[in-house]
Amino acid sequence: MALDEAQRCLNCKNMPCVSGCPVNIHIPEFIKKVAEHDFEGAYQVIAQSSSLPAVCGRVCPQETQCEGKCVRGIKGEPVGIGRLERFVADWHNAHATVATITAPKNGHKVAVIGSGPAGLTCAGDLAKLGYDVTIYEALHLAGGVLVYGIPEFRLPKSIVQKEVDNLKALGVKVETNMVIGRILTIEELKDEYGYEAVFVGTGAGLPRFMNIPGENLKGVYSANEFLTRSNLMKAYRDDSTTPIQHAKNVAVVGGGNVAMDAARCAKRMGTDKVYIVYRRGEAEMPARLEEQHHAKEEGIEFLTLTNPTEILGGEDGRVCGMKCIKMELGEPDASGRRRPIPVEGSEFVLDVDMVIMSLGTSPNPLIRSTTPGLETNKKGGIIVDENEMSTRENVFAGGDAVTGAATVILAMGAGKKAAEAIDRKLQGK
Ligand code: FAD
Ligand code: SF4
Repeated sequence: MALDEAQRCLNCKNMPCVSGCPVNIHIPEFIKKVAEHDFEGAYQVIAQSSSLPAVCGRVCPQETQCEGKCVRGIKGEPVGIGRLERFVADWHNAHATVATITAPKNGHKVAVIGSGPAGLTCAGDLAKLGYDVTIYEALHLAGGVLVYGIPEFRLPKSIVQKEVDNLKALGVKVETNMVIGRILTIEELKDEYGYEAVFVGTGAGLPRFMNIPGENLKGVYSANEFLTRSNLMKAYRDDSTTPIQHAKNVAVVGGGNVAMDAARCAKRMGTDKVYIVYRRGEAEMPARLEEQHHAKEEGIEFLTLTNPTEILGGEDGRVCGMKCIKMELGEPDASGRRRPIPVEGSEFVLDVDMVIMSLGTSPNPLIRSTTPGLETNKKGGIIVDENEMSTRENVFAGGDAVTGAATVILAMGAGKKAAEAIDRKLQGK
């Protein structure tokens, strides 16, 4: 299938697909190698621009990036670039025997805070250049959202583990259960531990809530907490020490990819009904179309143009329903999407015993509040210059910690750029 699909590429001279890729992978070049049966060659082409191809081949929103620009898509189906990338990466992981070449150790020490795609990429690129790199991760497993957020059925955790193992083979040290800002500060890493540069890739894991009555009841989760308990800590298993509520009916509030993941995980935990409750219409939903289709195929019910107003609790302090109101769409707001307006007299109670809030996240303020001179913007994102350097000398940052919740490929791209900038700075280039 991969060979047939690769034959569909027209090897366009102006390569619109490449301009759609945030890290500009040489797409026609790798596809040509696939068509020539040179799968390792194809992998090496991708590896020049991307350090996590097996991950990106699975989770990148290709329909708005490379495949969205593919000329084959004008009159029919675009070339399946994402699936070809996934095939090539999986082939490499199953067959490759060539060890990555690293430079001799250069004696410089760099600390990376956070082990999501930004941190993993930055650490890997620096290790290949000969740096002594240590990753400090708050959770007990490395991988960031790739392990605690994105469910196994979309991204097998063995793939992420392989990436972490590859880093360790390059000499990167991974210190888990290390909350920087609590156990150690960036100041201490620099002054007492001798790190000459620090990269902050701490993501955007702080959930937002609606501030409606009842959000503190038992049975109300943020999507991040719910997904962490189920994905990372396997709360669905009988032998898990992490509790999670087993509900009959669940409402997931929000319409993004994270809401789809939470809803599909809730469904897999034996729930009767799972509702997506979203205040705008289906056309305005931010989740990928593919994710919406998968959720519907699995029996998730979409309650669009519906907004919660109160979560109801029983005498035991647990959720026993959610008051909602129907909405209609008015004029476009600042985001360009039509503003949802409540329809008077349309209130109703949804029969649910668990509510998962999936309304977006922002960067956690812990690093900012413990690092003097580190400036952030209004949304909590660390302010960086064109070299990903923050307002603190030799403290670099990238990924969701800078941009707010975004994508794996953008975080990876930022980690790569920061590694190059750290190298230039420490080598006085
Ligand atoms: P993260 O992946 O968030 O990693 C940050 C790491 O830093 C975490 O491990 C965290 O524990 C650690 N950390 C935080 N604070 C500290 C501290 N003080 N000390 C030490 N460590 C700390 N993107 C896509 O492209 N495609 C998708 O399909 C997709 N699906 C998603 C599904 C879910 C459920 C979620 C939540 C996000 C999804 N995203 C998706 C977004 C994508 O995962 C993120 O944009 C990306 O992971 C950001 O990478 P990062 O390295 O900046 O941060
Ligand atoms: Fe191939 Fe599509 Fe890129 Fe053209 S735009 S080179 S057909 S992948």
